[in-house]
Amino acid sequence: MIKGTNFIGSTPSDQGEETLFSYNPVDGSAFAESFAIASTDEINQAVDKAVSAFQTYQAVSPQNKADFLDAIADEIMALGDKLVERACGESGLPAGRIQGERGRTCGQLKMFASLVREGSWVDAVIDTAQPDRDPIPKPDLRMMQIPIGPVVVFGASNFPLAFSTAGGDTASALAAGNPVIVKGHESHLGTNELVSKAILAAAEKTGMPEGVFSMVNGGIPVGQQLVKHPAVKAVGFTGSLRGGRALFDLANQRDEPIPVYAEMGSINPTFLMPEKLGENPDALGKSFAGSVALGVGQFCTNPGLLVGIKSTALDTFSQSLEEGLTEVTGTMLNAKIAESYYQHRDALLNEEGVSHQGNTDKAEGNTARALTATVSATAFLENPRLHEEIFGPFTLLVVCESATEMEAVAATLTGQLTGTLVATENDLTQNDTVVKNLEQKVGRILFNGVPTGVEVCAAMHHGGPYPASTNAKYTSVGSAAISRFTRPISYQNWPDSLLPTELQSSNPSGVWRLVDGERTKS
Ligand code: NAP
Repeated sequence: MIKGTNFIGSTPSDQGEETLFSYNPVDGSAFAESFAIASTDEINQAVDKAVSAFQTYQAVSPQNKADFLDAIADEIMALGDKLVERACGESGLPAGRIQGERGRTCGQLKMFASLVREGSWVDAVIDTAQPDRDPIPKPDLRMMQIPIGPVVVFGASNFPLAFSTAGGDTASALAAGNPVIVKGHESHLGTNELVSKAILAAAEKTGMPEGVFSMVNGGIPVGQQLVKHPAVKAVGFTGSLRGGRALFDLANQRDEPIPVYAEMGSINPTFLMPEKLGENPDALGKSFAGSVALGVGQFCTNPGLLVGIKSTALDTFSQSLEEGLTEVTGTMLNAKIAESYYQHRDALLNEEGVSHQGNTDKAEGNTARALTATVSATAFLENPRLHEEIFGPFTLLVVCESATEMEAVAATLTGQLTGTLVATENDLTQNDTVVKNLEQKVGRILFNGVPTGVEVCAAMHHGGPYPASTNAKYTSVGSAAISRFTRPISYQNWPDSLLPTELQSSNPSGVWRLVDGERTKS
């Protein structure tokens, strides 16, 4: 039995006692290597090393930090097919999807590298002194964002690359100047290890301090120990509401509570407005079937709730959706997720008023069978269990008797990552109350299209009011994700030459700043 590296970042030979295996979800076979569960000492060692790395890493120049992020992307690409094969084997996802996700992961790293080089993410604000102000003088105040210290990242099951070891959480935390400790997801242990080694190789090549990155394996106790460690300053998480909430509560019970930026469940409601629906309900049904089935429904933006008003167009849409999902099957990420899909879906199908047409038989192994079900708005409004996320290729169609009922459905929803309006402009103005309600519930609101597909850019907000995330102000995708791992500091009357370069009067770093209310580079 080959023992895989467990504690990465300093002493790979120092193994814990218990081990984990990863499995191929297609046939349930175990990969040959075992991966040791981190011991308490190893976890403490990872955090201690992150603490000492922080002293030097926060002072590394923007250019060098950016070189490190670029080098991680290069090292990941240099892993070539080995990484793609391992990630496919451990996730059941096809090579095309993993290659796309690798591109997105490297693109994110390079985006953060550019952001760090450009520098204005520090949000420098300068209010110069007014010593002669009457009745009291105004002091000189200069504010900017600084890193916070060691960040713990929980890798997600459904994005083995883009939301895992070198995903958006890690990239944004490193970009801000924080060391990172990843708690690898058990679903893709070999993928985690390959990517971790790529990060460490990049750190070595670019001269980053030891301990700037570590990865530990283990179950729930390992994650809990990391979150409770007094030197950890923030947590990034993508996964279930139960897991995210547990970690959030744990972090708040610490002597020093810390932020947990958890991106959790969402049913991503879509409102099918009458005028738009009437134009081509068949095509819309097909398009939503494709979105529901994409990635075997294992996306946080999966459209799990469709809401329309009773009409022949809605009947056509429903039939087309059902046809589009008939006989659609796919391997889920792991046995636990496949089991959970059938368990939660079947519980929902047994709720009062829920009807369905398709095949509900459990497919072989870890294969999910896609399905749609229908319920009246009255039954939906009365039963909060119908509002819960079913993680997988499933969607619930809510049939309203009137526009007023549709408004009530919009009003009753909890926080969501996305909300979609399938509508004409006229539909929007006619259904203003639905739009206003949805704006209050979601992090991203779409006019037509489908919610799956999350662009990585400066204007993306991938978050939303609870329970979609633990803090609606912050995004886990796009360049703004960096602000989760920074905090502001104001320097008052500080000697100019001893200020960070971004705040010095001559602005040697050349970043954009707000100086006495004016945005300027000078
Ligand atoms: P998960 O169960 O929330 O686990 C995510 C990570 O958090 C894992 O590393 C897990 O550790 C850890 N964790 C969970 N609960 C914890 C706790 N109480 N204390 C400390 N650590 C904890 O998510 P998952 O494994 O990815 O998938 C399970 C379910 O989550 C899915 O069936 C789905 O319902 C939901 N999910 C939702 C999304 C979304 O974007 N909406 C994405 C992924 C998953 P272990 O691995 O050791 O258990």
